[in-house]
Formats: sequence, C-alpha cells, structure tokens
Amino acid sequence: MASAPAIDKEALRRKYAEERDKRLRAEGADQYRRLESEFADLAADPYRPVEPRDPVTDHVTFAFVGGGFAGLVVGARLKEAGIDDVRIIDKAGDFGGTWYWNRYPGAQCDTASMIYLPLLEETGHMPTEKYAHAPEIREHCSRIGRQYKLYENALFHTRVTDLRWDSEAQVWTIETDRGDRFTAKYVGLGTGPLHVAKLPGLPGIETFRGKAFHTSRWDYAFTGGDPEGAPMTKLADKRVAIIGTGATSVQAVPHLARAAKKLFVFQRTPSSVDERGNAPIDPEWFAGVAEPGWQRRWHENFVGNMGAGNAKEDWVQDGWTDLGKRIRKEIATLPPEERTPANILAKWEDADHQKMEEIRQRAARIVEDPAAGEALKAWYRQLCKRPCFHDEYLQAFNEPGVTLVDTGGKGVERITENGVVANGTEYPVDCIVYASGFEVGTEYTDRAGFDASGRGGTKLSEYWADGMRTLHGLHVRGFPNMFVVQPTQAANFIANVPHNIVDHADTIAAVVREAEERGAATVEPQEEAQKAWVDLIASGPGMNLGGTECTPGYYNNEGKGFDDRTRFFAGHPQGAMAYFTHIDAWRRSGDFAGLEFG
Ligand code: NDP
Repeated sequence: MASAPAIDKEALRRKYAEERDKRLRAEGADQYRRLESEFADLAADPYRPVEPRDPVTDHVTFAFVGGGFAGLVVGARLKEAGIDDVRIIDKAGDFGGTWYWNRYPGAQCDTASMIYLPLLEETGHMPTEKYAHAPEIREHCSRIGRQYKLYENALFHTRVTDLRWDSEAQVWTIETDRGDRFTAKYVGLGTGPLHVAKLPGLPGIETFRGKAFHTSRWDYAFTGGDPEGAPMTKLADKRVAIIGTGATSVQAVPHLARAAKKLFVFQRTPSSVDERGNAPIDPEWFAGVAEPGWQRRWHENFVGNMGAGNAKEDWVQDGWTDLGKRIRKEIATLPPEERTPANILAKWEDADHQKMEEIRQRAARIVEDPAAGEALKAWYRQLCKRPCFHDEYLQAFNEPGVTLVDTGGKGVERITENGVVANGTEYPVDCIVYASGFEVGTEYTDRAGFDASGRGGTKLSEYWADGMRTLHGLHVRGFPNMFVVQPTQAANFIANVPHNIVDHADTIAAVVREAEERGAATVEPQEEAQKAWVDLIASGPGMNLGGTECTPGYYNNEGKGFDDRTRFFAGHPQGAMAYFTHIDAWRRSGDFAGLEFG
C-alpha cells in the first residue's frame, strides 16, 4: 500500500486560519436568539399536552431539578440508600432530559451504549445497538423512573422559578411556574449543559409563512413519520430547508433526504464526519460480558483509553477511544526524555492532521459531485468542533433531491416569507428546520432559569461571579444541602458525561446517608477544603477546547474565547481517571474530609 503523502504543516495551519477568519463574526454568540418572546410558540412541547394540576405545597427529603440522566441516577441511588421521598422536577412532560426533547429522525447516541446508558446493570437492560437510537434511550429513562418509583413524586411540565435556603427552618423552599411552593431538606441541580435551544438571529425570520421548527421540537404532525423511524411521508411533495450542519443535522439529514421532494442543506461550517460502524449487540456476547460490576469496569476502561489513560485494552472501541489511542500512539514515538509539553503537543497535532486528512478524503470519496465533496471538507482540528460519526450523512448528498448550499462560511443571509436566502439566491421552501443548536457558555443560572439563594440570601450567580467555586464539582460553600450535578471541576466534558453523573450520584447518596445517620441538619463544604479544590482545578490548563485559533463554535465562544474565569471551568488537571480515583478513595474512607455536618 502506498504511504500517505506527507502533510505540509505550515500550509495546513494557514488554511485552517483562513477558514476560521471567514467565519469570525463581530457579534459572536449574540448572533443567536432564544425560543422566547415572538418565538415562544416554537418552544412549546409538541410531544405531550400539559395536564392541569393543583399546586404542590408539601415537604420532601430530596428535590432534584432536572429529569434527565442526572435526576434519574441520583434519584435511583437515593432510593437505594433508603430515601423514599425524592421529587424530580422537569420542564419536559416526562423523564429523559435531552432525550425527551430530541426526537428528530435519526437521533442516536454518539458514545457507545454500553457506557453511555446509565444503570444498565441495575435495570438488566441490554442495549440493542452499539449506538442506541433515541427511542431506546428515552424508554430506558422511563425504565429507571418506573423501577425506582420516581414517577410517584415527579412534577413534569414544571419550571423551577426560585430556590431559596431558609436558614431558620434549615430547608430549601422551591417555587415553580405552576404555583408550587414546597420545601426540601436537600436539593440537587441537574439542568444539563445544552438545554436552551437557539435560533440564528436572521433578518426576516419571523416573516416566513411556511412551517418552521427547531430540531428539538420536531413536528411529526407536519412531516409525518415518528421518532421510531416511520418514514416522513407527508414531506413527499415538500421542499425542505435545514439550516445548520452540526451533530444533530448530520443525523437528521439522511432521513430528510429520503422523505422530502427536495432538500436544501444550508452549510456554514462542515462537520468532520468519520465512520460510525453501528451494529446490533449480540445477546450471547452481552451475556458473557455482563458479570457483576461490569458497567463500572467498562466506564473505567473507557477513561483508561482517553487522555493520559493507560488501559491495555480498548473494550469500548468507539470514535472517542480511537481518538485517544491515536494521540497516545504518536506520543509513544517520542523517547521518554523528549516528552516535553511542547513535543507532546506537536505529536498531538501530527495525529490530528492525519485523522482530519482521512476524514476530508472520506468526504471527497463518498460524495459523487466533486464540488459538494470539496465543500464538505472540514478545515480545522478535530476537537475544534464536536466530532461526528455517520455512515449515511455524506451519502445523502448523492440523492437526486438533495442540494448542499454551501455559504462559504458566511451562513444564511436572511429568511423571507417564502424561504431562505443564501449567497444572494432565494430558495423557496415549504418547511425550515433549524438545526442551530443550543446555548452554551452563558451563565449557568441564566440558562437554568432560576438563581439559587444560599445562606444570607447570596445568589449562586453572585457567589460565582469571579468563577465557579465548588468542592469536587458538587458541593458549594454557603449553599448547604445543595448538590450541583455537572462535569465541571469534576471529570469534565471530555469524559463520558454519564460516568460523571453516576459517580456524583454515588457521592450524593453516601453524603445524605451519612448526614441522616449523624442526625445532621446541614452539610456543606468547609471554606478551606473548597479553596484547595478550586486551586487544584485552576492549576490546570482550563477548558478552552481548541482555543481562539479554532474555527468559531460553542467550544470557543464563537471564536472570542472565554474570559479569565475559564481557569475554573475545567476538570481535574490530571484528567478524568485522577478525579474518579480521588473521589473513590474519598468515599471509601468514610470520613468525608472537607465537608462540615451541622
Ligand atoms: P451545533 O451548535 O453543533 O450546530 C449548529 C449549526 O447551525 C452549526 O452547523 C452552525 O454553523 C449552524 N448555523 C448557525 N447559524 C447559521 C447560519 N446563519 N447559517 C447557516 N448555518 C448556521 O448544534 P447541534 O444541535 O447540531 O449539536 C449541539 C450539540 O448537541 C452537539 O455538539 C453535541 O454535543 C450534542 N449532540 C449530541 C448528539 C449525540 O450524542 N448523539 C447528537 C446531536 C447533538 P457553524 O458551525 O458555522 O457555527
């Protein structure tokens, strides 16, 4: 086999910079708009009607905001620990979080089901595919809800509007948009990082006379079909536009391509789309794997294949472990004495260039129209944007009814009554699908829709004004009996997020059990312990994936980068494995060092 041509690194860096510069926009993240005010109708739940109910005014031991994986797994662990009155509150009509909303055709997990789906061992569920589709994931969420009786106390279609610590009664008071006002001894926040849908702020967007919806509010009544994969027959005579080519669009486009009379895919920046290689899971193979404790070992194996991990084998074998292995293989070519940070970064860049070149060649090979194949090539480093994996996306551009409208990095110009304008041309359409993503990088409290008030009325946003401060990413000084379930200052986004959630749930259950056994009214981190943890986090490189040399996107705040507070927006400086090992030892010791029980 002929060896791959050498890559001219300097030329490639220049090309990456040119492509980035085409896409930089002065307004940065302000180019987007929320589904509110005049777009509020687009935010309505198309999947389940809102049921009338009386306001709730009782007391529970544990209230959790968010009914996605975080709420479900924490709820399950608390039930196992003997806490019976757990209440989960969610703005959606059922459990599932992101998987409740994202029912667009083709929705599927990108991390292998064996490690992505939580509590597989506890529920006895065998994933049907290496990468499960959304209906199976949503059903798994319901399964957890049923098995752990979390439905009994749940409040759906309910937004928390206020969360306030009552220092006298030593309880949290929770208020919602359904008129509820109840108290809880403990609260958990698991609102998720990507739950506020955004639209491009395009001139004329409100004037379009056809059907328009965001991918997280898919209108099957209009398109026909269903999330389970029934064909969208009502699109057979329709001209459809999809705006955006991120991870969502990559999964939805093949389905729209099959169903619509005509599909226009409006692209500003191409995604990198590598092979998927999905396959059914063989029950016999699964039975051999599913020995007690298997999912924990799989989680650890995955982590051991990422970053500086040292796993000998790769059981998970997905796109992420492949990425980690390639980087480590390049670094291993350096003699130990030459493994300086600069040399390691250079080797990482080499591995990246090779991979991205393969991905670009894949686009050129699969797409029959050479101009479209060229336009679908991604000119940036792989972690500048969310890497995508799909075996039907690029192929969809070979369908006769599909047109790629590449905008040379400029994006769609405007929307008219009749359709979409790009490159000075109007494309009349019956339907516009906004695959324009979700808000990231705005204040946590702003996205959550409420700002918890801790001791003395201090707001969480005020307390974190100079950067996030937690112990272990979970406990916050001055906010007693409150747990924040998210990956920052813990294992971080790079790792499999559900692993982080399961780990946090184990910790919360252990801490709550300890507090109950001690008869403690409150538990919160000590000032010193929290400071030491934050100092440790800030000693690392911070979370600025790719940095401002990357093409704009939500990873780098649309090319503007983040402010100095990014130092705190990071995981354990030694990586996910170091975090999990530390916390495991901390939990096992049983002395809960750094926490104050009152
Ligand atoms: P993204 O933010 O990744 O993509 C939004 C898209 O809209 C981008 O292609 C963006 O272009 C484009 N866009 C914005 N404005 C315009 C405009 N004016 N004209 C043309 N295009 C425009 O959103 P997604 O919903 O695709 O994905 C969000 C995240 O959700 C993913 O990164 C991933 O973390 C998660 N996800 C996970 C999945 C999984 O696990 N299976 C599946 C789907 C999503 P540009 O790139 O130029 O900004």
